[in-house]
Amino acid sequence: MKKTYSYACKDYPGMEECSGQFVAESEDEIRQLIELHARVAHGEEASAWSDDDRAQIRALIRVEQV
Ligand SMILES: [Zn+2]
Repeated sequence: MKKTYSYACKDYPGMEECSGQFVAESEDEIRQLIELHARVAHGEEASAWSDDDRAQIRALIRVEQV
């Protein structure tokens, strides 16, 4: 069985204006897409994120069985 991982940037508090949405086939891939998006769209370096930031992002990743 396959899973899809999706993330909508606007779900993150303070990012309501952002239209960025991503879908990937693995948690690793979605995490990299989120980090790339944060850098390109928001000028944020993922290496500067706290454990709380990461936990919040992880909680917002939606996993679906397909
Ligand atoms: Zn965004």
